[in-house]
Amino acid sequence: MKNIPQHFFPSWAGPGGGGGWSWPLCIKWEAGESLQLWGLDSALWCMLCRGGREKLDQACQRGRVALQLPKAMLQLKLPRLFNIHQIPKVFWEDSIISGYRHPQSSALDCILSSFQMTNETVNIWTHFLPTWYFLWRFCVLCSTVDFLSESYTWPLLVYMLLICLYPFTSSCAHTFSTMSPKARHICYFFDYGALSLYSLGCAIAYGSYVMPECWVNSLLHRHFIPIAIANSVFCTSASCYSRFLELQFPQKSKILRTGAFVVPFIFDTVPLFYRLLLCFGGSCTHTEAVSSHCYHLLFAFLTCFLFASHLPERLAPGRFDYFGHSHQLFHICAVIGTHFQMEAVLADMTSRQSWFSAHSASPSFLGTLGALALGILLNLGIIALFSASLPHALNLSPEKGGATTRTPQPSAASKDE
Ligand SMILES: [Zn+2]
Repeated sequence: MKNIPQHFFPSWAGPGGGGGWSWPLCIKWEAGESLQLWGLDSALWCMLCRGGREKLDQACQRGRVALQLPKAMLQLKLPRLFNIHQIPKVFWEDSIISGYRHPQSSALDCILSSFQMTNETVNIWTHFLPTWYFLWRFCVLCSTVDFLSESYTWPLLVYMLLICLYPFTSSCAHTFSTMSPKARHICYFFDYGALSLYSLGCAIAYGSYVMPECWVNSLLHRHFIPIAIANSVFCTSASCYSRFLELQFPQKSKILRTGAFVVPFIFDTVPLFYRLLLCFGGSCTHTEAVSSHCYHLLFAFLTCFLFASHLPERLAPGRFDYFGHSHQLFHICAVIGTHFQMEAVLADMTSRQSWFSAHSASPSFLGTLGALALGILLNLGIIALFSASLPHALNLSPEKGGATTRTPQPSAASKDE
């Protein structure tokens, strides 16, 4: 028998026995020749016996940290959310009880909050993602339609720009609406302005592609765009003003805001209603777009109903704070409706081009892009006026951000995180 080296190695004391590695017993170990062949005579056991304990502790520590890392990542502290009684009244949403963000969030907090589950998260994404869908459809059209030189396509160009603009503005408004009470009002002024411009875009497209044949060149047709611009001014002014009534007269505010959007919608859609009436009466021409128009109208009514009714959250306040409340459904229906409207406008534009070329003047630059520019200027002016009068109208001082505010303290935060 050869002179076999003798070694000691630590033993595991177990979780209940002092924890970790130790030498409670020095176990004598004799390495046989066969184990020497496996290399167990050298580095491993030297490490364990000569200062190896510290190294082993360090390795265990590192292992423990590595194992705890995913857990720590999962427990990453997200900004606190608040319930309705912990935030100023100006931020309250009808029948939404929890999931509110801090009412004085920074711009970065607002952007990050779109990745956190709050009562606004679905509102943000249900308009942000469709923006990219409509942009993609617009880019595809740009490669197939000659927007630069063919004036017949300009109404479509205006319409496509505005169906990209309104969901994007809405998504931004929902994202940044919790920076301060004043910022909240300004965000929604822009949201209403974009929706009002969208109604102008619908009028420009309908006046050029959707108008029933018997109404082309009529008095209404000739004044369709100027009236639509006036409607846009009314829509933005009334909807912005409705925010000033919100706290004191919530019912009146709701009626005024709903009316502000319904009036341009009805005006824009009257020619379509008449055309569909003729269709159902049997004298129908250019029918390719009719089914898309009907789907659009169905979703438009649903959108209006959801906006006005606040269902389903009104039936069970607090149940739909994060998923399924009326504003989310309103966004989804509006976007689906716009999709069908876009398909209908495209179908009408293509199928009725030769008829319109023969019976009507080509759309003018002033009546399309000029009307859009005027609409944008007027809307920006209205938004600037309402924004400037905010401190006076809401008794907001620029320093305080709002006389009625109750900024939540960290200690007052709910468990709802
Ligand atoms: Zn919205």
